[in-house]
Amino acid sequence: MARDPDCIFCRIVTGEIPAEFAYRDDEAIAIADANPQAPQHLLVIPTKHVPNIAALQASEEGAAVAKLFAIAADLGRKHAAAGFRLVVNTGPDGGQTVDHVHVHVLAGREMRWPPG
Ligand code: 5GP
Ligand code: ZN
Repeated sequence: MARDPDCIFCRIVTGEIPAEFAYRDDEAIAIADANPQAPQHLLVIPTKHVPNIAALQASEEGAAVAKLFAIAADLGRKHAAAGFRLVVNTGPDGGQTVDHVHVHVLAGREMRWPPG
């Protein structure tokens, strides 16, 4: 499905819900997370509705997966000289709360390991 009218991120892509954009093209956007977990916290989101990274990979959109990570890495480099963390929460056990695939870009503080 290209768009899901009930999906928050689809509604951000169409402009129906406002967001602060850090990047935008026809295939992907990057926005500031509404509930930041680090001094810099961005979300890289494909414009097409796909529920999670497993479904994106399974739909033979390997290039789309690569593109999301390329944008995320570019933003990480731009926002964080001392490093950053990319996170893709997937499914209930993975802590995913919005079922439209996205890559978190977290930066601006030292990250801990293991994650919670
Ligand atoms: P997840 O928990 O699925 O990995 O990440 C979803 C993220 O989306 C959360 O970090 C949450 O703060 C963010 N989020 C949820 N709703 C909105 C919204 O309406 N606007 C923005 N900018 N971020 C949102
Ligand atoms: Zn969506």
